[in-house]
Amino acid sequence: MRKKIVAGNWKMNMNISEGLALAGSINKYFLDNPSKRAEAVLCTPFIHLAGVAETLKNSKLSLGAQNCASEPSGAFTGEVSCDMIKSTGAQYVIIGHSERRTYFNEDDKLLNKKTLLALKSGLTVIFCCGEVLPEREQNIYFQVVKKQLEVGLFNLQPEDFAKIVIAYEPVWAIGTGLTASPEQAQEMHSYIRSLIRERYGKEIADQTTILYGGSCKPSNASEIFAMPDVDGGLIGGASLKKDDFCAIVNAV
Ligand code: PEP
Repeated sequence: MRKKIVAGNWKMNMNISEGLALAGSINKYFLDNPSKRAEAVLCTPFIHLAGVAETLKNSKLSLGAQNCASEPSGAFTGEVSCDMIKSTGAQYVIIGHSERRTYFNEDDKLLNKKTLLALKSGLTVIFCCGEVLPEREQNIYFQVVKKQLEVGLFNLQPEDFAKIVIAYEPVWAIGTGLTASPEQAQEMHSYIRSLIRERYGKEIADQTTILYGGSCKPSNASEIFAMPDVDGGLIGGASLKKDDFCAIVNAV
């Protein structure tokens, strides 16, 4: 059985005390109501990581960053390396979120560099892919995602690729309130799995966790997660509300 994961992406929200309070309340909820089905991951801003790690000590919740530097260390003012992230106690890092691709011009080659560094540091990568609206309308969304995966991930050795989590996030659905239909999500997830099968074989393809992201909320999570190739979600806005995030984790 492949791992089911629901990861919350807090983006650039929450000051330290708000973040610690949110992490504490989610932690308390899962201590009181242990979820057996999905692993829940909180992907916080960098400055929250060490504090939230302390809050989550001895809990079942996991912790992640939303980005990492593309160099291992040195004179890169303002950057945060994979080793630094790992040293906070975090286990995950999101790489290639569409907001990084769009606002910070991160391309697939750079994302590949970050992915290799993150794996070297012992982090699990949540690698995001997905098409923008014109690409969906022009019916080229399969080609777009194929290229993102080929350049971003497919030079990894099989034992490294086996540690990757993929998040399919149609950009037109992120933060817009527009959600992909369960059938649209399934169609792409199954295509992504077929690409992995071609490159790495059936066993790795069957084991790869593929998350859906894009305006996922408690009211639509169950029907999307019920699709056979959808193994959980990457959640933005709804991850900032304890009740919504916990309900989505429980929807897996
Ligand atoms: C995201 O930022 O990864 C995301 C899916 O955002 P939202 O859930 O707000 O659409």
